[in-house]
Formats: sequence, structure tokens, C-alpha cells
Amino acid sequence: MALIVQKFGGSSVADAAGIARVADRVAATKRAGNDVVVVVSAMGDSTDELLDLAASITDDPPAREMDILLTAGERISMSLLAMAISARGVPARSYTGQQAGVLTDTAYGRAQIKKMAPERIKRTLDEGGVAIVAGFQGVNDDNDVTTLGRGGSDTTAVALAASLKAAVCEIYTDVDGIFTADPRVVPKARRIPLITTDETLELAAHGAKILHLRAVEFARRYNVPLHVRSSFSDKEGTWVRNPTEENPMEDPIIAGVAHDASQGKITVLGCPDRPGVAARIFHVCADAGANVDTIVQNVSPDSARTDISFTLPIEQAKSTMQALQAAEDDLGFTGVKYTESIGILSLVGAGMRTHTGISATLFGALFDAGINIHMISTSEIRISVVLAIEDLPAALTAVHTAFDLDASATEAVVYGGTGR
Ligand code: ASP
Ligand code: MG
Repeated sequence: MALIVQKFGGSSVADAAGIARVADRVAATKRAGNDVVVVVSAMGDSTDELLDLAASITDDPPAREMDILLTAGERISMSLLAMAISARGVPARSYTGQQAGVLTDTAYGRAQIKKMAPERIKRTLDEGGVAIVAGFQGVNDDNDVTTLGRGGSDTTAVALAASLKAAVCEIYTDVDGIFTADPRVVPKARRIPLITTDETLELAAHGAKILHLRAVEFARRYNVPLHVRSSFSDKEGTWVRNPTEENPMEDPIIAGVAHDASQGKITVLGCPDRPGVAARIFHVCADAGANVDTIVQNVSPDSARTDISFTLPIEQAKSTMQALQAAEDDLGFTGVKYTESIGILSLVGAGMRTHTGISATLFGALFDAGINIHMISTSEIRISVVLAIEDLPAALTAVHTAFDLDASATEAVVYGGTGR
């Protein structure tokens, strides 16, 4: 008998019919002789609706109250699902994050899990029941309710799978798995049957919306196999695993290509070209709360000075620009400029470690498509390029084709709307 954790995203439980479909699947998994723990997200767009509701009350809601509010969404889906499963003759009980022993720090809205103590869940399994756990929520040392950040139900599921030593954590979503590109932009995207946690981390960190980043970090650290698949079909999805000696997972060279349209670019013009200036500029950015990503330094027309450009999430641009403008005289640069209309394409593949010619193919494909590159950054298994946002779809298509990732027929079916 295996212990299986199944996580269902909001689009899988969007309405009563969705809840019934999920309940059928859970009941079937249990009847097949498995122990089952289920993690659910809030129904459909209900988390967004709760956010809108709070915004209509005040511009500045206390973070503690926001977290209590947002956890209400998952309470609704978890209890309805428990009712639906019980109605199918399989005993099921729902639990909040607090009841399930998800213990977090106090960073409301982006809490980190410190410890898992799922005693209540274990007892339910021992009694032969299915445990339904509210995703995305926990409790801090003061017994106050916290949330793990948008998309955090994935992390609840993987953390539970790790602490219960589940055989697999199944992540049910509205597409058939992880694709070589977002099928909404590249229709010829192919389902990836098997991918490493390292590659999945790079894809998730660079715009692929398929999995919560911290969920993948947990899966890597605690060696939890993930199976990302659709709740709308019975098709095999994508397995995410750590490589082992028996299965080094070295093929294929390129796993896929991600894109991110949520970043903007700031250029600090005419920085004095002497030691310490960059350090002071990025100090100002850090104090303004900026998560700086790609950085490029160029000689400016006046050779005693340089221009420094970097990318950051769009929502952090305003405060960062204000902080830099305030520091202009002090730091001695000549101006700052902000561009929102950028897109970032990231090519990811563990095979980059050992294969040559990857950058030549990438830049060749972009050149052939007539696309100009603004900035480049790399990791051991990723090359990212910053482009004009309007070039992003054509760039993704060209790169996808150049690395032989295109499916021969359209394979991707998008069942829902959100990719969550
Ligand atoms: N309901 C939360 C959200 O919409 C958590 C999740 O779906 O994972 O972000
Ligand atoms: Mg999600």
C-alpha cells in the first residue's frame, strides 16, 4: 500500500462539477488500496476575489488580517471536497493548515514553513480515512494564521509528502504536465515526460507558472518525486525527480524555454567608473526592497563613466526609481531611466553543463528571426536573454524550433484558464 499526496489547483475545483470530478478520482485512488492525503487550493478565482474585496475596504489592510481572509478560500474547497468524498462512501475529513501541523514563521503573505507536525493527518490515515488539507496556509508560534504566498498550495503538498514520506506527490492542474514552452504562446510545445528538479527550479524561477518555486525546492531537498498532470484527463503527465546513479537523467540536452513578462529594466546612466560605485547603487536598490536579477554594465559614450542596467519585478520599479533619483547627487551618476516593455526568454537544460554550441544555436536563432538582444545572463544550466516585449512570442517560437523541441502535431491541451 502506497501513500499518495494529491494536490488540486483552483481550476480543478472551480465549481461543484469540478469538486465531484476530483472526489471521484480521490475515491478511486483510495479504493485502489492507497493511503491518500489531498491538498486543495481555493475554488477558481476566489483568492483573487478576496483580494479585490479587501482592496475595496482599504488601501492598506493589515497583513495579519489579509492572511486570515485569504485562508478562508481553502476552507471552503476543503470542506466541500470532504463532503463529496464522504458521499462516495469513502470516509474523509478536512483540516486547516493549523490542524495539519504546518508551522511557519511570521512573515504574513510569504511565510516559510519551519516545521511539519502532521500528527492529526497520520491519525486520520491510521483510521482508514482520507485527509483533506487546506493548501497555502500555516500557523506561527503565536497561533496566528499565515499564508505561504500566491500558488503556495504546491508547497503545502510537497512539504506534507516529505514529512509523511509519501511515494509520490501528484500535482493536478489544468494542463497535461510541464511543457517545453508555455503552450498558450508556443502551440507546438511538447509535454516533457521526465525532468530534473534543477531544471524545474530554473523554469519556475524564470516565469514558468506550473509550480510554486519553494515546492520544487522542497522536492529537491527531501527527494520527493513529483508527478504534474491534468485533473481533466487520465494521461500520464511530467515526472520531476532528482537524478540518481542508476538514472542520471542526462538526456535531452535542452529541457525547455521559459518566459517572463513581469520584469522591467532600470538603467543608471553615467556612473563614475571607480571602485565602490556599483556597491552603493545596489545598496540603494536593496534598501528599496528590489529583487535585482540580470545586471549589465556598459561603457558609456564618456569613457570615464559607465551605464549600469538591471532587471527587477515591475511592481518594485516605482520605489526603486524614487530611491535612485534621491541618491543621484550623492552617488554622482547623471540620470536613471526605466523601461517596462521588456521580456525575458530563458533556455534551460542540464545538458548545457557538458555540451558546447548551445549559445551559438540560441543567438543564431534570434539573429535569423531579426531579434535584438538587450542583456544576457547565465547559470550552469540556463541562458537568459532580455528582449523587447513585442519580440518575445517570435523569439520563443524561433528558439523552440532551433533546439528541435517542436511537437509534430499540437499536443498541448489547455483545459482551464489559469495554469494554476
Ligand atoms: N489559493 C492560493 C492562490 O490562489 C494558493 C494556491 O492556489 O496555491 O494563490
Ligand atoms: Mg498553482
